[in-house]
Parts: sequence; structure tokens; C-alpha cells
Amino acid sequence: MRATAPLLGLLLATAPLAAHVKHARNSQADQKIHRVEKLADNVYCIFGNGGNIGLVVTDQHAVLIDDQFDKLLPGLREAVKSVTDKPIKYLINTHHHGDHTGGNRGLEGQVVAILAHRNVRKHLLEAQKGKPADQQGGLPELTVGEEDPRVKARMDIHLGGVEMHLLHYQAGHTDGDIMVGIPGASVPVIHMGDLFFNGTIPYIDLKGGGNLTGMLENVEHVLGFVPDTAKIIPGHGPVATKKDLTRFRDFLKAVQAHVKAHPKMSGQELDAAFDHTAWADVKAIGDFLSYANFFEIAAGRVPARR
Ligand SMILES: [Zn+2]
Repeated sequence: MRATAPLLGLLLATAPLAAHVKHARNSQADQKIHRVEKLADNVYCIFGNGGNIGLVVTDQHAVLIDDQFDKLLPGLREAVKSVTDKPIKYLINTHHHGDHTGGNRGLEGQVVAILAHRNVRKHLLEAQKGKPADQQGGLPELTVGEEDPRVKARMDIHLGGVEMHLLHYQAGHTDGDIMVGIPGASVPVIHMGDLFFNGTIPYIDLKGGGNLTGMLENVEHVLGFVPDTAKIIPGHGPVATKKDLTRFRDFLKAVQAHVKAHPKMSGQELDAAFDHTAWADVKAIGDFLSYANFFEIAAGRVPARR
């Protein structure tokens, strides 16, 4: 989400981090929040405040997938240093939301290139229009895909002995989603960005070109090729398996079927009529990532903010 991205990032922080919500975002405490989980010999997931970050270490450098918030960059740099001395030289954005691209400006001076879908550049440029100079920049320099999100796109990059696939299937969470696969790692890894929320109600940015059917088809697409042994980095929530992603697919399908069966109901009515007992593992977060709001989104209506 554009204007409220920092807030959403805070809302989406994992439960133990909830206490940080009340801290100023630029406090020292917030900069020490990162936790690193090793997924394969050269692939890590870094959790902080905002979208999950992928870290790929090659023979020559470190590659970041997403970068959370500007204010958290010092902590993120420390987290990277805790596993490698290699410099951060490439940055990939899974989509344009601020809890995934907030560190772009701070990193652009040191990286060779920022890579993303073409529409990420478009959205970031739009958001920066008329802003002061210190809020400009950090735009993707190498873009993949076309403005029409129905056009499938793929870019393979070969960096320091590691092959990574940037995949755009179609609009889902936004109109500029890419997933990043590292199929040759000692354990295959894919970062799905916000096309996958593990364990919580997801968010779909309708104004940013997303839609439920597209999100579901993206997930089906990944389920079609990802091996059982793969580790899957969701945009938010703990690192997942194919089984978790299958569960997420089933949840999206249940929501879609429910909305279709009751076309005249509001989000709140749909929530009241839904069989929650089957989905106790899919948690709502705060007022915004609620079942009622997600039903609104599933029906193609932008939920009202409270
Ligand atoms: Zn997002």
C-alpha cells in the first residue's frame, strides 16, 4: 500500500515485535530487530519490520531481495554482515510497496543495479512526484516485463556463480509482482513477495492493479513447478514449505467460492457467514488485515479504513 505502507509494515510485524509498534520507528531499538534464518548454503531470510528480505551470497557479492524501511537500513546492514563480508551489490524489489522498497534510496549509491518489474518503477515515480529532493530516487534501473501485467516475463541473472530467476506471471498482489527463484541452491528457494502471506490474512492492492484471481493463479503457478523440498519465503510470516503454500491456495479458493456464492453480501456479512473453524490457522492482524476487509477485497471493493 502506498501512503500507509509503513503502518502496514508495522502491523505485519511478527507477534513478538508488536511491542515495537509503540516505539518511534527511528529508535535504536528498531534498528536491532533483525533476525537471520539460514535456508540453504548461500541463501538466507532476514526478518525485521516490514516485508521479509531474501539474502543470496555469491562468490563475489551479496544480493538483497527487498529492503524494508529506510530507517532500518543500519540494522539490515549489520544483519547481512553477520553472515558475509561480501558487499551488497544487487537489489531486487518484489513489488513497489514501501515496506519492501523503503531502503532503496539508501542502497542505490552502493549497488550496481536495482532490479524490478517495470510497473514498480512506474508506481515509485508516481509516488515521488512533487516530493522534496531527499525523497526522490531509489528507482529500479533494470526492469523486467511490460506495463500490461498480463504479459508474462522472466529475467535470468547469473551472478558470482549463482543463477536467479525473476518471474512475473500476472498481476496478483499488485500489477508489478515478481518472484525470485534460486533453483540451484543446496535447498531450492523462492521468494514470493506479497503473493504469499504465511499464516495471516493476506492483502491485495486493488488500486495498485492486484486482484484475487490473479493472486490465486500466481500461487497455482508456483505450486506447479516448485519441488517438495523447496523453502518458500513469503512476503510476510515465517518461511514456508510447499504444504503451507498449498494451504494458502486452499484458503484463497475458499474465500473466492464464498464470495461467489453470496454476491450481494458486504464484507462483514461474508465474515459472519464464513466457516471460520476450518481456518483457525489463518490469523487476522489488527483492524485492517481482517476477514471482513479481505472479503471486501475478494469482491473487488477497496476496504474502508478505520
Ligand atoms: Zn505489498
